[in-house]
Amino acid sequence: MKRNRRAKIVATLGPATDSVAEIEKLFKTGADVFRLNFSHGDHAEHQARLDAIRATEQKFDRPIAVLADLQGPKLRVGTIADGGIMLERGQAFRLDLNDLKGSKDRAPLPHPEIFAALKEDTELLVDDGKIRLRVTEAGAGFAETLVEAGGQLSDRKGVNLPKAVLPLAAMTDKDRVDLDFALSIGVDWVALSFVQRPEDVAEARKIIQGRAAVLSKLEKPAAIDRLDEIIALSDAIMVARGDLGVELPPEDVPSLQKQIVRRCREAGKPVVVATQMLESMVSAQAPTRAEASDVATAIYDGADAVMLSAETAAGEYPVQAVAIMDRIIARVERDEAYRAIMDTSHPDPESTAPDAITAAARQVAETINATVIVTYTTSGSTTLRAARERPVVPILCLTENVATARRLVLAWGVHSVVTRDVRNFSDMISKACRIALDEELSLKGDRLVVTAGVPFGTPGATNILRIAWVGD
Ligand code: PGA
Ligand code: MN
Repeated sequence: MKRNRRAKIVATLGPATDSVAEIEKLFKTGADVFRLNFSHGDHAEHQARLDAIRATEQKFDRPIAVLADLQGPKLRVGTIADGGIMLERGQAFRLDLNDLKGSKDRAPLPHPEIFAALKEDTELLVDDGKIRLRVTEAGAGFAETLVEAGGQLSDRKGVNLPKAVLPLAAMTDKDRVDLDFALSIGVDWVALSFVQRPEDVAEARKIIQGRAAVLSKLEKPAAIDRLDEIIALSDAIMVARGDLGVELPPEDVPSLQKQIVRRCREAGKPVVVATQMLESMVSAQAPTRAEASDVATAIYDGADAVMLSAETAAGEYPVQAVAIMDRIIARVERDEAYRAIMDTSHPDPESTAPDAITAAARQVAETINATVIVTYTTSGSTTLRAARERPVVPILCLTENVATARRLVLAWGVHSVVTRDVRNFSDMISKACRIALDEELSLKGDRLVVTAGVPFGTPGATNILRIAWVGD
């Protein structure tokens, strides 16, 4: 079962897509990676989803990547009396540590560490920026604010402090428990929310110890200031436009998206563009023209993957959302302008053997009209370098390592297959040809470009390139 596109689709699971049948449908329609969102649901629900994903994986004999998205240090107000209150512009409003339910003139903000970071004039955005408060006086465990933009405030609404680098640990106690659980059920990727500094990523890596790959969600302006360091420490990046667009003015987000995607592509790290891509499909059967255009833009930028959130987790048309996303991606990738952009915008190879080989593989594949580039890999690093080249043809990743095969599902153009390591040159060629045929990536008579490392069977850098002929 192969996809007719290079960029990947990440689908968030939730109440709308809980059954095995529904998850199977999403996969068949085009979802490559499933996101378990630990901001919602309990462990039993995540476990059931993971079981359904692994059953689907077995049924279709295709690796599927599972991304556990940790909630991170998301700030929220506490509970509010009567389910909600109306804040009027110009009124005073107090935030404090008192756990009495919120009322017309105050509400609990149960994050003691935050108050120290509040100063006169600090801006607080509540409920995705719908309500704006400005601090007039800050003290120990409280802040007096002025309501600059009013609105209905209800229980547990999110709070953003755009300008501040907050003295928050990268992971909350809940995140640590969730992370332990996610690793115990064998997720492939862990997403870190509200990363502010490279140290946040390093801290998570120390706990994860290679048991999953690490994706950093960029949704804080502070993270943008240290973009390159964060990319270097992460295995992948998400342009998390939901919170980013609250923390920054919306007009800043499109150029940042392009900048982040470009930097990730230079580094050869997979990058996911996320949030509100087909938002109206939560309750409509077709996307708006603007949404179709937004998905297309991410693909023209060269993103590895695009993500669906509420569209698949809680929407009325989850399968249709995946289907239309699949069609938009495939359509863009057929555009000659897309190919021209990939050819002119791909970064130069670095001066390493794997880069020399994978850059050559891309050129050779084009010159001889090969149908696929085959990479033999253990860690997956060579395959990612091949993806960085954005070649015309798919990249068939052959690996003995199931974890590698699953992780690489997120990467642009990669079709992974788990297979035993090869022993010699003829084994390497015959296996590549047989699998390319089986997976319908090649037909008899086609040529392949194969990269691998010798001596065989010892993990190490890629150092050979061979052209093979799919015989009969
Ligand atoms: P979230 O992250 O859906 O977990 O908030 C994505 C975003 O903020 O865009
Ligand atoms: Mn977010």
